[in-house]
Amino acid sequence: MTFKCTIARIAGKLALFIVKLGKGMGRSFPGYLFLKVGGLDCLKELSKRSKIGNILITGTNGKTTTTKMLCLLLKKDSSVSCNFDSNTINAVATGLLRKESDLGVFEYGIRTSKYSIPDTVCEYVDPIGVIYTTISREHLMVAGEKNPFREYFKAKRLLSAPMKKGVIICNADDPRTAYIGMEKEKDVQVAYYGLEVGLEDETPLSAPVHCPRCGKKLEYSKRYLNHRGIYKCNCGFSRPEPNVKITRISKEDKKWKIEIASETYNYTSQKRISSKFKLKVPNFGIHNIYNFLCASTAYITLTPNPENIKETMKKTAQELEKFSLPPGRFEIFKLDDKTVGIGQGDNGDALKANLQFHPSHELTLIYTTPDKGEDEIFQDHLRVIRSAQPMKVHVFPGRESISAAEKYYKIIKGYFDSSFHPISNEHIDKKIDEILKVIKEASTKSIIVSGCGPEHLLWARLKSKFESTL
Ligand SMILES: [Zn+2]
Repeated sequence: MTFKCTIARIAGKLALFIVKLGKGMGRSFPGYLFLKVGGLDCLKELSKRSKIGNILITGTNGKTTTTKMLCLLLKKDSSVSCNFDSNTINAVATGLLRKESDLGVFEYGIRTSKYSIPDTVCEYVDPIGVIYTTISREHLMVAGEKNPFREYFKAKRLLSAPMKKGVIICNADDPRTAYIGMEKEKDVQVAYYGLEVGLEDETPLSAPVHCPRCGKKLEYSKRYLNHRGIYKCNCGFSRPEPNVKITRISKEDKKWKIEIASETYNYTSQKRISSKFKLKVPNFGIHNIYNFLCASTAYITLTPNPENIKETMKKTAQELEKFSLPPGRFEIFKLDDKTVGIGQGDNGDALKANLQFHPSHELTLIYTTPDKGEDEIFQDHLRVIRSAQPMKVHVFPGRESISAAEKYYKIIKGYFDSSFHPISNEHIDKKIDEILKVIKEASTKSIIVSGCGPEHLLWARLKSKFESTL
Protein backbone atom coordinates (compact mmCIF):
# COMPACT_ATOMS: atom_id res chain seq x y z
CA MET A 1 0.00 0.00 0.00
CA THR A 2 1.35 3.41 -0.88
CA PHE A 3 2.15 6.02 1.77
CA LYS A 4 -0.77 8.22 0.71
CA CYS A 5 -3.21 5.33 1.01
CA THR A 6 -1.81 4.33 4.40
CA ILE A 7 -2.39 7.86 5.70
CA ALA A 8 -5.89 7.83 4.17
CA ARG A 9 -6.62 4.53 5.88
CA ILE A 10 -5.43 5.81 9.26
CA ALA A 11 -7.63 8.91 8.81
CA GLY A 12 -10.58 6.71 7.84
CA LYS A 13 -10.02 4.34 10.77
CA LEU A 14 -9.84 7.28 13.15
CA ALA A 15 -13.07 8.67 11.74
CA LEU A 16 -14.64 5.23 12.12
CA PHE A 17 -13.71 5.34 15.81
CA ILE A 18 -15.10 8.88 16.26
CA VAL A 19 -18.34 8.00 14.47
CA LYS A 20 -18.75 5.09 16.89
CA LEU A 21 -18.51 7.50 19.83
CA GLY A 22 -20.80 10.24 18.55
CA LYS A 23 -24.40 9.75 17.56
CA GLY A 24 -25.79 10.54 14.12
CA MET A 25 -22.47 11.54 12.58
CA GLY A 26 -23.33 9.76 9.39
CA ARG A 27 -22.23 6.30 8.46
CA SER A 28 -20.44 7.46 5.35
CA PHE A 29 -18.16 10.05 6.98
CA PRO A 30 -15.13 7.73 7.46
CA GLY A 31 -15.28 6.74 3.78
CA TYR A 32 -15.67 10.36 2.78
CA LEU A 33 -12.55 11.31 4.74
CA PHE A 34 -10.64 8.34 3.37
CA LEU A 35 -11.43 9.33 -0.22
CA LYS A 36 -10.73 13.00 0.49
CA VAL A 37 -7.24 12.16 1.73
CA GLY A 38 -6.37 9.27 -0.56
CA GLY A 39 -8.51 9.62 -3.65
CA LEU A 40 -9.98 6.88 -5.81
CA ASP A 41 -6.70 5.03 -6.36
CA CYS A 42 -6.59 4.26 -2.66
CA LEU A 43 -10.12 2.87 -2.88
CA LYS A 44 -8.74 0.34 -5.33
CA GLU A 45 -6.06 -0.56 -2.77
CA LEU A 46 -8.60 -0.69 0.04
CA SER A 47 -10.93 -2.97 -1.90
CA LYS A 48 -8.15 -5.59 -1.99
CA ARG A 49 -8.55 -6.01 1.75
CA SER A 50 -11.35 -8.44 0.95
CA LYS A 51 -9.18 -11.48 0.22
CA ILE A 52 -11.49 -13.21 -2.24
CA GLY A 53 -13.19 -10.05 -3.42
CA ASN A 54 -16.19 -7.77 -3.18
CA ILE A 55 -19.82 -8.26 -4.14
CA LEU A 56 -22.24 -5.45 -5.03
CA ILE A 57 -26.02 -5.91 -4.90
CA THR A 58 -28.44 -3.65 -6.69
CA GLY A 59 -32.01 -3.56 -8.01
CA THR A 60 -35.25 -1.62 -7.48
CA ASN A 61 -36.80 -3.92 -4.89
CA GLY A 62 -35.37 -6.59 -2.60
CA LYS A 63 -31.81 -5.27 -2.30
CA THR A 64 -31.63 -5.15 1.50
CA THR A 65 -33.45 -8.45 2.04
CA THR A 66 -31.25 -10.21 -0.53
CA THR A 67 -28.06 -8.72 0.95
CA LYS A 68 -29.10 -9.90 4.42
CA MET A 69 -29.91 -13.39 3.16
CA LEU A 70 -26.64 -13.63 1.23
CA CYS A 71 -24.66 -12.60 4.30
CA LEU A 72 -26.46 -15.21 6.37
CA LEU A 73 -25.43 -17.86 3.81
CA LEU A 74 -21.82 -16.76 3.22
CA LYS A 75 -21.08 -16.27 6.93
CA LYS A 76 -21.33 -20.00 7.46
CA ASP A 77 -18.46 -20.67 5.04
CA SER A 78 -16.16 -17.67 5.26
CA SER A 79 -15.52 -14.34 6.94
CA VAL A 80 -17.77 -11.66 5.50
CA SER A 81 -18.03 -7.93 5.88
CA CYS A 82 -21.61 -6.81 5.15
CA ASN A 83 -22.94 -3.35 4.48
CA PHE A 84 -26.58 -2.36 3.98
CA ASP A 85 -28.07 0.80 2.53
CA SER A 86 -24.78 1.94 1.03
CA ASN A 87 -25.89 4.23 -1.74
CA THR A 88 -22.74 6.28 -2.21
CA ILE A 89 -19.10 5.57 -2.87
CA ASN A 90 -18.37 7.01 0.62
CA ALA A 91 -20.59 4.39 2.25
CA VAL A 92 -18.87 1.60 0.32
CA ALA A 93 -15.45 2.90 1.42
CA THR A 94 -16.72 3.05 5.03
CA GLY A 95 -17.74 -0.59 4.78
CA LEU A 96 -14.31 -1.57 3.46
CA LEU A 97 -12.56 0.31 6.28
CA ARG A 98 -14.46 -1.59 8.94
CA LYS A 99 -12.82 -4.96 8.81
CA GLU A 100 -10.66 -7.27 6.79
CA SER A 101 -12.45 -10.37 5.54
CA ASP A 102 -12.67 -12.96 2.78
CA LEU A 103 -15.63 -11.30 1.12
CA GLY A 104 -17.12 -7.80 1.20
CA VAL A 105 -20.87 -7.71 0.53
CA PHE A 106 -22.36 -4.31 -0.27
CA GLU A 107 -25.91 -3.31 -1.02
CA TYR A 108 -25.62 -0.51 -3.56
CA GLY A 109 -28.72 1.52 -4.35
CA ILE A 110 -28.58 3.47 -7.60
CA ARG A 111 -30.95 6.18 -8.75
CA THR A 112 -28.97 8.07 -11.36
CA SER A 113 -25.52 7.77 -12.87
CA LYS A 114 -24.88 11.38 -11.87
CA TYR A 115 -25.30 10.83 -8.12
CA SER A 116 -24.32 7.20 -7.79
CA ILE A 117 -21.42 7.06 -10.30
CA PRO A 118 -22.00 3.30 -10.75
CA ASP A 119 -19.28 2.77 -13.40
CA THR A 120 -16.69 4.54 -11.22
CA VAL A 121 -17.70 2.40 -8.24
CA CYS A 122 -17.33 -0.75 -10.35
CA GLU A 123 -13.97 0.30 -11.70
CA TYR A 124 -12.46 1.09 -8.29
CA VAL A 125 -14.14 -1.51 -6.11
CA ASP A 126 -13.36 -4.09 -8.82
CA PRO A 127 -16.10 -6.53 -7.75
CA ILE A 128 -16.00 -10.29 -8.33
CA GLY A 129 -19.79 -10.31 -8.28
CA VAL A 130 -22.54 -7.86 -9.27
CA ILE A 131 -26.01 -9.03 -8.35
CA TYR A 132 -29.30 -7.76 -9.77
CA THR A 133 -32.58 -8.41 -7.98
CA THR A 134 -35.27 -6.83 -10.15
CA ILE A 135 -35.65 -3.55 -12.01
CA SER A 136 -38.84 -1.54 -12.32
CA ARG A 137 -40.00 2.05 -12.50
CA GLU A 138 -39.54 4.01 -9.25
CA HIS A 139 -38.97 7.61 -8.09
CA LEU A 140 -38.83 9.72 -11.17
CA MET A 141 -37.59 12.78 -9.34
CA VAL A 142 -34.04 12.73 -8.00
CA ALA A 143 -32.72 15.84 -6.27
CA GLY A 144 -35.34 17.95 -8.04
CA GLU A 145 -34.45 16.61 -11.49
CA LYS A 146 -36.54 14.37 -13.68
CA ASN A 147 -34.92 10.96 -14.07
CA PRO A 148 -36.70 8.97 -16.78
CA PHE A 149 -36.76 5.16 -16.60
CA ARG A 150 -34.35 4.92 -19.52
CA GLU A 151 -31.71 6.81 -17.52
CA TYR A 152 -32.45 4.83 -14.37
CA PHE A 153 -32.04 1.54 -16.23
CA LYS A 154 -28.81 2.74 -17.83
CA ALA A 155 -27.40 3.64 -14.39
CA LYS A 156 -28.14 0.13 -13.09
CA ARG A 157 -26.46 -1.32 -16.14
CA LEU A 158 -23.34 0.78 -15.62
CA LEU A 159 -22.62 -0.92 -12.30
CA SER A 160 -21.48 -4.07 -14.12
CA ALA A 161 -20.47 -2.53 -17.46
CA PRO A 162 -16.71 -2.13 -16.72
CA MET A 163 -16.34 -5.72 -15.37
CA LYS A 164 -13.62 -7.84 -16.95
CA LYS A 165 -13.64 -10.69 -14.45
CA GLY A 166 -16.10 -12.23 -12.02
CA VAL A 167 -19.76 -13.05 -12.25
CA ILE A 168 -22.94 -11.14 -12.91
CA ILE A 169 -26.01 -12.64 -11.30
CA CYS A 170 -29.32 -11.84 -12.96
CA ASN A 171 -32.97 -12.65 -12.62
CA ALA A 172 -33.82 -14.57 -15.82
CA ASP A 173 -37.53 -13.90 -15.25
CA ASP A 174 -37.00 -10.13 -15.23
CA PRO A 175 -36.37 -9.04 -18.84
CA ARG A 176 -34.37 -5.98 -17.73
CA THR A 177 -31.85 -7.75 -15.52
CA ALA A 178 -31.67 -10.64 -18.01
CA TYR A 179 -30.79 -8.18 -20.76
CA ILE A 180 -27.95 -6.71 -18.66
CA GLY A 181 -26.55 -10.23 -18.25
CA MET A 182 -26.89 -11.19 -21.92
CA GLU A 183 -25.03 -8.10 -23.03
CA LYS A 184 -22.10 -9.00 -20.76
CA GLU A 185 -21.83 -12.73 -21.53
CA LYS A 186 -18.95 -12.00 -23.89
CA ASP A 187 -16.83 -10.50 -21.07
CA VAL A 188 -17.69 -12.34 -17.87
CA GLN A 189 -19.52 -15.31 -16.49
CA VAL A 190 -23.28 -14.76 -16.03
CA ALA A 191 -25.48 -16.83 -13.73
CA TYR A 192 -29.24 -16.60 -14.20
CA TYR A 193 -31.86 -17.58 -11.66
CA GLY A 194 -35.57 -18.09 -12.17
CA LEU A 195 -38.70 -20.07 -11.44
CA GLU A 196 -39.90 -23.14 -13.29
CA VAL A 197 -43.08 -23.90 -11.41
CA GLY A 198 -46.84 -23.98 -11.78
CA LEU A 199 -47.53 -20.63 -10.12
CA GLU A 200 -49.15 -17.84 -12.07
CA ASP A 201 -49.83 -14.15 -11.37
CA GLU A 202 -53.25 -13.52 -12.86
CA THR A 203 -53.56 -9.86 -11.90
CA PRO A 204 -52.60 -7.29 -14.55
CA LEU A 205 -49.09 -5.86 -14.92
CA SER A 206 -48.43 -2.69 -12.89
CA ALA A 207 -46.93 -1.12 -16.03
CA PRO A 208 -46.46 -2.17 -19.66
CA VAL A 209 -43.14 -3.93 -20.20
CA HIS A 210 -41.09 -3.14 -23.27
CA CYS A 211 -38.33 -5.17 -24.84
CA PRO A 212 -35.00 -3.84 -23.54
CA ARG A 213 -33.43 -4.64 -26.91
CA CYS A 214 -35.85 -3.12 -29.44
CA GLY A 215 -38.44 -1.24 -27.38
CA LYS A 216 -41.54 -3.15 -28.58
CA LYS A 217 -44.06 -4.51 -26.12
CA LEU A 218 -42.99 -7.87 -24.68
CA GLU A 219 -45.20 -10.95 -24.91
CA TYR A 220 -45.60 -13.13 -21.84
CA SER A 221 -46.62 -16.78 -21.99
CA LYS A 222 -46.58 -16.84 -18.19
CA ARG A 223 -46.09 -14.37 -15.35
CA TYR A 224 -44.90 -15.41 -11.87
CA LEU A 225 -44.97 -11.99 -10.24
CA ASN A 226 -45.76 -8.78 -12.06
CA HIS A 227 -43.15 -8.37 -14.84
CA ARG A 228 -41.22 -11.49 -13.83
CA GLY A 229 -42.12 -14.47 -15.98
CA ILE A 230 -41.57 -16.20 -19.32
CA TYR A 231 -41.36 -13.63 -22.09
CA LYS A 232 -40.27 -13.14 -25.65
CA CYS A 233 -40.15 -10.50 -28.37
CA ASN A 234 -40.40 -10.58 -32.17
CA CYS A 235 -36.83 -9.32 -32.41
CA GLY A 236 -35.54 -12.60 -30.98
CA PHE A 237 -35.01 -11.44 -27.39
CA SER A 238 -36.34 -14.02 -24.94
CA ARG A 239 -35.89 -15.27 -21.42
CA PRO A 240 -32.56 -17.07 -20.88
CA GLU A 241 -32.50 -20.54 -19.34
CA PRO A 242 -31.86 -20.19 -15.59
CA ASN A 243 -28.74 -21.86 -14.14
CA VAL A 244 -30.29 -21.98 -10.68
CA LYS A 245 -34.00 -22.52 -10.50
CA ILE A 246 -36.87 -23.41 -8.24
CA THR A 247 -38.41 -26.48 -9.83
CA ARG A 248 -41.08 -27.27 -7.26
CA ILE A 249 -43.05 -25.17 -4.84
CA SER A 250 -45.94 -26.10 -2.60
CA LYS A 251 -47.47 -25.09 0.72
CA GLU A 252 -47.02 -27.52 3.58
CA ASP A 253 -47.73 -26.84 7.29
CA LYS A 254 -47.88 -23.09 6.66
CA LYS A 255 -44.47 -23.18 4.98
CA TRP A 256 -43.19 -23.20 1.44
CA LYS A 257 -41.63 -26.46 0.42
CA ILE A 258 -39.28 -25.74 -2.46
CA GLU A 259 -36.85 -27.64 -4.63
CA ILE A 260 -33.79 -25.80 -5.95
CA ALA A 261 -31.85 -27.26 -8.87
CA SER A 262 -28.56 -25.76 -9.96
CA GLU A 263 -26.32 -26.41 -12.89
CA THR A 264 -23.76 -23.66 -12.66
CA TYR A 265 -20.15 -22.59 -12.15
CA ASN A 266 -18.53 -21.72 -8.85
CA TYR A 267 -16.30 -18.75 -9.50
CA THR A 268 -14.12 -19.05 -6.40
CA SER A 269 -13.14 -22.70 -6.77
CA GLN A 270 -13.54 -22.70 -10.55
CA LYS A 271 -15.63 -25.85 -10.40
CA ARG A 272 -18.89 -26.77 -12.04
CA ILE A 273 -21.65 -27.25 -9.50
CA SER A 274 -24.64 -29.38 -10.02
CA SER A 275 -27.01 -29.93 -7.15
CA LYS A 276 -30.62 -30.46 -6.30
CA PHE A 277 -32.19 -30.22 -2.88
CA LYS A 278 -35.45 -29.65 -1.07
CA LEU A 279 -35.91 -26.94 1.56
CA LYS A 280 -38.63 -25.50 3.74
CA VAL A 281 -38.80 -21.73 3.94
CA PRO A 282 -41.24 -19.41 5.76
CA ASN A 283 -44.58 -18.61 4.29
CA PHE A 284 -43.50 -15.28 2.80
CA GLY A 285 -44.58 -13.65 -0.47
CA ILE A 286 -43.31 -14.65 -3.92
CA HIS A 287 -41.07 -11.56 -4.00
CA ASN A 288 -39.19 -13.01 -1.02
CA ILE A 289 -38.98 -16.40 -2.74
CA TYR A 290 -37.19 -14.48 -5.50
CA ASN A 291 -34.95 -12.72 -2.97
CA PHE A 292 -34.01 -16.04 -1.41
CA LEU A 293 -33.36 -17.60 -4.83
CA CYS A 294 -31.20 -14.62 -5.80
CA ALA A 295 -29.17 -14.86 -2.58
CA SER A 296 -28.85 -18.64 -3.01
CA THR A 297 -27.58 -18.25 -6.57
CA ALA A 298 -24.99 -15.70 -5.46
CA TYR A 299 -23.97 -17.98 -2.61
CA ILE A 300 -23.63 -21.09 -4.82
CA THR A 301 -21.64 -19.10 -7.37
CA LEU A 302 -19.28 -17.33 -4.97
CA THR A 303 -18.75 -19.48 -1.87
CA PRO A 304 -15.16 -20.61 -1.38
CA ASN A 305 -16.46 -23.91 0.02
CA PRO A 306 -18.86 -25.39 -2.52
CA GLU A 307 -18.81 -28.75 -0.74
CA ASN A 308 -20.88 -27.16 2.05
CA ILE A 309 -23.65 -25.82 -0.18
CA LYS A 310 -26.39 -28.28 0.69
CA GLU A 311 -25.85 -28.13 4.43
CA THR A 312 -25.50 -24.33 4.52
CA MET A 313 -28.66 -23.87 2.50
CA LYS A 314 -30.63 -26.17 4.82
CA LYS A 315 -29.38 -24.43 7.97
CA THR A 316 -30.02 -20.96 6.57
CA ALA A 317 -33.53 -21.86 5.43
CA GLN A 318 -34.36 -22.80 9.03
CA GLU A 319 -32.91 -19.53 10.34
CA LEU A 320 -35.17 -17.53 8.04
CA GLU A 321 -37.97 -18.08 10.60
CA LYS A 322 -36.49 -15.41 12.83
CA PHE A 323 -35.13 -13.30 10.01
CA SER A 324 -35.68 -9.61 10.70
CA LEU A 325 -36.91 -7.55 7.80
CA PRO A 326 -35.49 -4.12 6.91
CA PRO A 327 -37.28 -1.05 8.42
CA GLY A 328 -39.48 -0.01 5.49
CA ARG A 329 -40.46 -3.53 4.56
CA PHE A 330 -43.95 -4.86 4.66
CA GLU A 331 -45.09 -6.56 7.85
CA ILE A 332 -48.37 -8.01 9.02
CA PHE A 333 -49.90 -7.23 12.42
CA LYS A 334 -52.96 -8.70 14.10
CA LEU A 335 -55.48 -6.47 15.81
CA ASP A 336 -58.37 -8.38 17.36
CA ASP A 337 -59.95 -10.02 14.33
CA LYS A 338 -58.30 -7.61 11.89
CA THR A 339 -55.18 -8.08 9.81
CA VAL A 340 -53.11 -4.96 9.25
CA GLY A 341 -50.29 -4.88 6.71
CA ILE A 342 -47.85 -1.97 6.90
CA GLY A 343 -44.86 -1.09 4.74
CA GLN A 344 -43.34 0.84 1.91
CA GLY A 345 -44.52 0.24 -1.64
CA ASP A 346 -42.98 3.18 -3.44
CA ASN A 347 -43.22 1.73 -6.93
CA GLY A 348 -45.92 -0.27 -8.70
CA ASP A 349 -44.03 -3.53 -8.39
CA ALA A 350 -43.49 -3.19 -4.63
CA LEU A 351 -47.09 -2.09 -3.96
CA LYS A 352 -48.28 -5.10 -5.90
CA ALA A 353 -46.10 -7.43 -3.82
CA ASN A 354 -47.60 -5.92 -0.63
CA LEU A 355 -51.18 -6.25 -1.83
CA GLN A 356 -50.65 -9.98 -2.45
CA PHE A 357 -51.23 -10.47 1.25
CA HIS A 358 -54.79 -9.33 1.53
CA PRO A 359 -57.77 -11.59 0.97
CA SER A 360 -59.33 -10.59 -2.34
CA HIS A 361 -62.27 -8.63 -0.87
CA GLU A 362 -63.14 -6.32 2.01
CA LEU A 363 -59.96 -4.31 2.03
CA THR A 364 -59.37 -0.83 3.41
CA LEU A 365 -56.35 0.73 1.76
CA ILE A 366 -54.44 3.58 3.36
CA TYR A 367 -52.47 4.86 0.41
CA THR A 368 -49.55 7.29 0.64
CA THR A 369 -48.99 9.03 -2.69
CA PRO A 370 -45.92 9.76 -4.81
CA ASP A 371 -44.66 13.32 -5.31
CA LYS A 372 -45.19 16.06 -7.86
CA GLY A 373 -43.86 14.99 -11.27
CA GLU A 374 -44.31 11.30 -10.48
CA ASP A 375 -47.52 10.75 -12.44
CA GLU A 376 -46.11 7.60 -14.03
CA ILE A 377 -45.55 6.06 -10.61
CA PHE A 378 -49.08 7.03 -9.66
CA GLN A 379 -50.41 5.36 -12.82
CA ASP A 380 -48.54 2.16 -11.90
CA HIS A 381 -49.97 2.36 -8.36
CA LEU A 382 -53.47 3.00 -9.69
CA ARG A 383 -53.34 -0.10 -11.90
CA VAL A 384 -52.37 -2.19 -8.88
CA ILE A 385 -55.04 -0.61 -6.63
CA ARG A 386 -57.71 -1.13 -9.27
CA SER A 387 -56.93 -4.83 -9.52
CA ALA A 388 -57.05 -5.16 -5.71
CA GLN A 389 -60.56 -3.55 -5.57
CA PRO A 390 -60.47 -2.04 -2.06
CA MET A 391 -63.81 -1.10 -0.44
CA LYS A 392 -62.41 2.15 0.87
CA VAL A 393 -59.26 4.16 0.11
CA HIS A 394 -57.76 6.74 2.48
CA VAL A 395 -55.29 8.95 0.63
CA PHE A 396 -52.37 10.63 2.43
CA PRO A 397 -49.53 12.61 0.86
CA GLY A 398 -46.48 10.31 0.97
CA ARG A 399 -43.81 12.76 -0.04
CA GLU A 400 -43.46 16.56 -0.21
CA SER A 401 -46.28 17.85 -2.35
CA ILE A 402 -49.78 18.08 -0.83
CA SER A 403 -51.26 19.46 -4.05
CA ALA A 404 -49.91 16.52 -6.08
CA ALA A 405 -51.45 14.18 -3.47
CA GLU A 406 -54.78 15.97 -3.85
CA LYS A 407 -54.60 15.60 -7.63
CA TYR A 408 -53.98 11.85 -7.25
CA TYR A 409 -56.79 11.60 -4.69
CA LYS A 410 -59.26 13.17 -7.14
CA ILE A 411 -58.43 10.46 -9.68
CA ILE A 412 -58.78 7.66 -7.11
CA LYS A 413 -62.13 9.13 -6.01
CA GLY A 414 -63.41 8.40 -9.54
CA TYR A 415 -62.99 4.66 -8.86
CA PHE A 416 -63.45 4.09 -5.14
CA ASP A 417 -65.12 5.38 -2.02
CA SER A 418 -62.23 7.58 -0.82
CA SER A 419 -61.24 10.31 1.57
CA PHE A 420 -58.28 12.67 1.67
CA HIS A 421 -56.07 13.42 4.67
CA PRO A 422 -53.79 16.31 3.68
CA ILE A 423 -51.15 16.05 6.43
CA SER A 424 -47.54 16.75 5.44
CA ASN A 425 -44.43 14.88 6.59
CA GLU A 426 -43.50 17.95 8.64
CA HIS A 427 -46.32 16.90 10.96
CA ILE A 428 -45.36 13.26 10.97
CA ASP A 429 -46.74 12.58 14.48
CA LYS A 430 -50.11 13.96 13.44
CA LYS A 431 -49.97 11.86 10.29
CA ILE A 432 -49.17 8.69 12.20
CA ASP A 433 -51.96 9.37 14.74
CA GLU A 434 -54.43 9.91 11.92
CA ILE A 435 -53.38 6.65 10.21
CA LEU A 436 -53.83 4.79 13.50
CA LYS A 437 -57.27 6.35 13.90
CA VAL A 438 -58.28 5.24 10.39
CA ILE A 439 -57.05 1.70 11.14
CA LYS A 440 -59.07 1.54 14.40
CA GLU A 441 -62.22 2.83 12.77
CA ALA A 442 -61.99 0.74 9.58
CA SER A 443 -65.04 -1.41 8.90
CA THR A 444 -63.17 -4.14 7.01
CA LYS A 445 -61.23 -7.11 8.38
CA SER A 446 -58.23 -6.40 6.22
CA ILE A 447 -56.32 -3.11 6.21
CA ILE A 448 -53.20 -2.25 4.27
CA VAL A 449 -51.04 0.84 4.68
CA SER A 450 -48.66 1.23 1.76
CA GLY A 451 -47.29 3.55 -0.89
CA CYS A 452 -44.54 6.17 -0.82
CA GLY A 453 -42.92 7.59 2.27
CA PRO A 454 -39.66 7.98 4.14
CA GLU A 455 -38.37 4.65 5.41
CA HIS A 456 -37.43 5.50 8.99
CA LEU A 457 -39.57 8.58 9.58
CA LEU A 458 -42.83 7.04 8.43
CA TRP A 459 -42.68 3.26 8.06
CA ALA A 460 -40.41 2.30 10.93
CA ARG A 461 -42.14 4.73 13.32
CA LEU A 462 -45.61 3.75 12.24
CA LYS A 463 -44.83 0.09 12.79
CA SER A 464 -43.30 0.65 16.22
CA LYS A 465 -46.14 2.93 17.28
CA PHE A 466 -48.58 0.37 16.04
CA GLU A 467 -46.98 -2.31 18.18
CA SER A 468 -46.92 -0.17 21.31
CA THR A 469 -50.34 1.53 21.18
CA LEU A 470 -52.65 -1.11 19.78
ZN1 LIG B 1 -37.42 -6.85 -29.00
